Parts: sequence; C-alpha cells; structure tokens
Amino acid sequence: MPQDNNILRVILPGKLIDGIGTQPQEGKAVAIQGNSIKWVGSAADADNLDSNGATKEIMEFPGGTLLAGLFDIHTHTNMPGDGRTGEQINLDDNDEIRLLRSARNAATAIASGVTTMCDCGSWNRTGFALKEGLSAGLVEGPRVLVSGPPLTVTGGHLYYMGGEADGVAEVRKMVRNLVKQGADFIKIAASGGSTSTSDPYRAAYSVDELKAIVYESHNRGRPVLAHCRCTDAINAALDADVDAILHCSFYDNDGQYRYDQETAERLAASEVYLNPTMGLGQANRDRLIRIKNERGLTEDENQRLERSRVSGENSRAQFRALIEAGVKLVGGSDCGWSYYPFGDFQGEVMSLHRAGLSRIDAIHASTRSPALALGIADSIGTVEAGKQADLLVVNGDPAQDLENLRNVDVVFKGGARLATTNERTVSD
Ligand SMILES: [Zn+2]
Repeated sequence: MPQDNNILRVILPGKLIDGIGTQPQEGKAVAIQGNSIKWVGSAADADNLDSNGATKEIMEFPGGTLLAGLFDIHTHTNMPGDGRTGEQINLDDNDEIRLLRSARNAATAIASGVTTMCDCGSWNRTGFALKEGLSAGLVEGPRVLVSGPPLTVTGGHLYYMGGEADGVAEVRKMVRNLVKQGADFIKIAASGGSTSTSDPYRAAYSVDELKAIVYESHNRGRPVLAHCRCTDAINAALDADVDAILHCSFYDNDGQYRYDQETAERLAASEVYLNPTMGLGQANRDRLIRIKNERGLTEDENQRLERSRVSGENSRAQFRALIEAGVKLVGGSDCGWSYYPFGDFQGEVMSLHRAGLSRIDAIHASTRSPALALGIADSIGTVEAGKQADLLVVNGDPAQDLENLRNVDVVFKGGARLATTNERTVSD
C-alpha cells in the first residue's frame, strides 16, 4: 500500500532500539515518509528537519520504546493453534476454510506487533493465495513470506500439504514448481515430525536429495529452511548447506535425547541460523498448568506435562550450550501448531532470553536476524534510513523487561499505521 508522501511523521520515543547498537538509546528521533524511514538522528535536530514541503506530524512517546517490527521466522497460518494436529486439520477442513483461517491469523499477527513472518508450510496453494490477497489489499497482515507445501518424502512429515517428492529428479522439479507458484523460500521436512506416518528421530532425505534442493533453491535466490528433529537430520542439513534449521533438537534414532558435542561444534562453525521453537513447549506447559489450577489434570495430561517439562529442560540446556559455542539464533514461534495460537510471538522471544541470550540479543534475534537469514536485511529488520518503515512502539523498555514487548502501543507496516491488539479489543 503506497503511503502519503505529503506527511513527514517525526517519532520521538523515550528510547530507541535500532537493531544495530548493543543498548537502547535515549534522545533519538525517527522520521518516516511514504513507505520508508527517512531519517534517524538526535531528537534535538528533529525540529530543524527539512520536510521539503510535506506536512510535519510529531508523535511523542516519552514512556515508549521504538524498535523494528517483529519478524517471526516460523508460523503455519492454516493452523488454528487449538491443539488439533495437522492430520486432523487435513480431515476437518478444506483449503477454502484453511485460507480464511490464514487471513484471520495474519490479522492477529500484525496487531500483536509482527510485521513480517514466514509461513513454513501450508496446504496446496493457500499460502500463495494469502500472499496475493495481502498484496491486493483484500486482507490485513504482516509481510508474509511463504514456502507453500514443504518438500517431504512419501508419507513424511506434513505430506498431506501436497509437497511429497522423492529422489533427486522429483525434488528438483518440486522446487522449480514451488518457485513458479510464488515461493519466497523453500521448506524441507528433513526429518519426520508429529505426522504419524513419519519418524521424527530419523533423517528423511539423503544428503544428495538435500543438496539438489539447496542447489535449485539457491540458484533461484530462494533460502532453504529445514525442519530437523534429530541429530542425523541436522548433520545432513549441514552437509547440504541449508540457511536455517528449525527445531534443531539432538535426538538419536532410538528417540533418546543426547547432547552431541561434534554436531554442536559444526553448528557453531557454520553460518546456519537456528530456530529453537522453545516458546511452543512453554505455551503447552503454561496451558496445562492453567488447567491444573482450574480443575486438576487427567493422568494423560499429567504425563504430557512431565514429558514436556523434561524436553523443555533438555532444549534449554542444549541451546544454552550452543549459545556459548557461538551459534546464530532466530526467533520463530511455530504458532498455529499445537496449542500456540497466533498473537504471542513474544513468548518465543522470551524463551530465547531464558535459554541465555541477553534481552537485546533476543530482540535482535526476532527482528534483524530473521531478515538476514531470509536475505532481506537490506529492506527490513533494523531502524535505519532507507529501510521500510516497519516499526513498533511498545510501552516501557523491553531491554529491561521483555514482557513490555507484549504492551504494543503503535504498529507501522511500510509507513501505514495499523490497529494494535488493544485497539482492536477496545473497538470490538
Ligand atoms: Zn513448523
């Protein structure tokens, strides 16, 4: 949506997190015009800023912090986040209903402060249709980058989305086909997952197949994100030089969690981005604890809570060690999946901090790093002149308390001010 070039908006926040510095800065101002950030400088100079005939509009947020819009690298817009599995949604819904849900989820995401997100797996053409609807202005939402159906082996994780491809020739053709339909990046189910015909503790593709996928994708300027729930799949993905590894958990073929020092060293030495998806487990545990307090848990729920507690502790310890080893993390909620509805990517940001990133690093991992991983950091991800005006003002300072990220006062996407979650609730 092209924005009015005749207005120069000067934003004066209490603090600025520009995504480059290591600390929030005080006394700064940011001017936006049209779709983009025009100027970033000292608040004292904002008065003398030449508006070139445009009307100057001053917006003051003395108690607020201005930062780049959040970027969630891992979502599933077709999915409801109400505990139903992908297989259930495959049976319950058709693509028309899934697409409507995507539109609703996209609206929820932008209101919560997510100005860009990746849809890492949607049924058939629904993800592409969402993107087309957004660019036609039919629905409101973040910038959405879509993979379409993930590449998966026959019967592999998410096969029901429509991306089954086996062997080097078929995977090449599938990548070319997805790019033809509008894929911004390519998603691979490099191990099994929750899909009952798949095995999360086994690598799904051979290294030759993965290399063919990465070659075809990179040759078309498309990054590759690989779902890896076991150590074998992580190593195969590293062999093939993927751009980001989702989940990245150290399980062996027997289903046992074992921290793997050699794999950790490979991850740290590589340029790959890791998306731990720890917020998802936390959302599940928080939900079960809420139920426990309300009515007590069934035996089955008790066991699930215990399993989740153990796997959550393993993940936190794993990523704490990986952070010390020097890996690059990116925030990705996996929302839509399990009991993690859209609208709280902030939970994932907080989980990165709990695993050992400083607050400001957790914010960078959820704004700048995903833009770098997707190769679009020249236009979004930091608050710099010339970039798209994708901005948030939150009340308070999230570098002091990440909970403040949930307190979104203003959202801009490409210079357009959109309603926040609070504003939507008030007007309902
Ligand atoms: Zn996912």
